[in-house]
Amino acid sequence: MKQDGATIYRAAAIRDAQGASARPGAVAVRHGRVVASGLPDSLPKRLTRNATFIDRPDELIIPALVNAHAHLDLTELGPTPYGGDFTAWLRDLVSRRPTEPKQIIDAVRRGLVLSRSAGVGHLGDIAGSTAAVMGRRQAPREAEMPGVSYIECFGLGESQASSITQMKRALEDLPFESRIDFHDRGAVLGLGPHAPYSTGMDVYKAANRLSHDRIYRLTTHLAESAEEIRFVRDAQGPFAELLKALGKWDDGIEPSGQHPVQWLEPVLKHARWVLAHCNYVEDEHIDILQKTGTSVAYCPVASEYFGHVDHRYRDMLEAGVNVCLGTDSILCQPTDEPQPMGILPQMRRLFRRDQTDPGTLLKMATTHGMLALEFSETDATLQKRAPAVFAAVKIDKDDPLDPLVQVLMNDHPVTPINATRTPAEE
Ligand SMILES: [Zn+2]
Repeated sequence: MKQDGATIYRAAAIRDAQGASARPGAVAVRHGRVVASGLPDSLPKRLTRNATFIDRPDELIIPALVNAHAHLDLTELGPTPYGGDFTAWLRDLVSRRPTEPKQIIDAVRRGLVLSRSAGVGHLGDIAGSTAAVMGRRQAPREAEMPGVSYIECFGLGESQASSITQMKRALEDLPFESRIDFHDRGAVLGLGPHAPYSTGMDVYKAANRLSHDRIYRLTTHLAESAEEIRFVRDAQGPFAELLKALGKWDDGIEPSGQHPVQWLEPVLKHARWVLAHCNYVEDEHIDILQKTGTSVAYCPVASEYFGHVDHRYRDMLEAGVNVCLGTDSILCQPTDEPQPMGILPQMRRLFRRDQTDPGTLLKMATTHGMLALEFSETDATLQKRAPAVFAAVKIDKDDPLDPLVQVLMNDHPVTPINATRTPAEE
C-alpha cells in the first residue's frame, strides 16, 4: 500500500453545488479529504503518479447529503401509515416511543447507520432525551455522524418555568467538557423547543438566551399545520382540546392573535433558527424568515404524508431564505422505501412532483443544509479540503441525459463512500 499517495475515485460523472461538474469525473482523496476534483485528465500529475485508483464507471458521485431534520430516537417505530388525524397520531406516537435509555440509544444508532447507508453525511437530530444525545455521542464508528443533536423541550403556560429548569438540567447532565468532545466528534449540541402548541414563548426566549454564546444551535417545528395556526392565533381547536384532555391546559395559555411566524419573530430576530416545515406561510411571513436569516428545513415526504400541499419552498428560495431538506421521522416515510432515512428520496419527490431545477435540489440537499446546521458549506462539496464522504448512484453512462437528472429520474439506491480514514489511520 502506497501510504502517501492519493486515492482517486474515477466515476462516470461527478457533481457538487459549488461548481464541480465533470463527465467523466474524478475525485482525489488524501488523508481523508478531497485534494482535487474534475475531469480525470485534469488532475495534477503529482497526484496521479502514486495514486490508487478506484473505478466506479457506472456511477455519479456527489457529496454525502445533509439531513437537517430527523428524529432518530423514533427509528424503531418504522414507517407507519397515517390515519388522517394529527392529534391522534401524536397520541399514538407518545404511547409507542421508547422510554428506556438503552432502547433510545439503540434506536438512535440504528437511525445513524440507516442514514449513513443512504448516503447522508451530516444530520440534525431532534433528541427527545439526553439518552438520545449520548447514544449519538458514544456511537460506534459505523454510526458516527457529524451534525447537531437538538435537545427537545416542551412546556406551555404556567409550566414554562419548570420546563426551563428541566432544559438547563438536561444541559448540565451532558458534562461541560463533553461539548468540546462533541465538536471533535462532529455532533454539536442544540436546543429544540418542540412547537408552539406544546411550548410557550418563555421557553423559546430561554433557548435564545442559553444559545447566546453560540454554543447551542436552535430549531423548532413551526407553521406545520392549519390546526397550529389556529392554536397560536385563537388558543382554540384540536390542539387546545388535546391539551385539555391531557390535563395540560391552564390559564397561562392565551391567544396571540398572530400567525406562528409573526408570533416567533421577536425570538428569530435575536438568534439563528432552523424552522422545520413552514407548510403554511404567506408572503409577509417569508419576508420575516428572510429578514431574520432563518433557515427552513422542508421535509417533502413527511409534509405530503400529513396531507399538506403547495409548500412555498421555491418562493422562499427566491426571496433569499435558506431552504434545506429533512426526512422528519421514519414514521412518515413510505413502507416500500428502501432507504427511508435518505435525502435522495426527498430530492426525487420534488423533482418528479414539481420539476424543480436539479442544481437547486442539490444545493438544498448539501450546502443549504450545512448553512442551517452552522457547519462549513464546503464540507458538503467535492471541493478541496472537504471530508471524503460521498454518495454514488448508478446512471446509464451512455445516455446523454444530464447525470444528475438521471439520478433524480431513476430509482437506484445510494451507495455511500466514506474515505475519511485511510487504512493507516484505522
Ligand atoms: Zn420533526
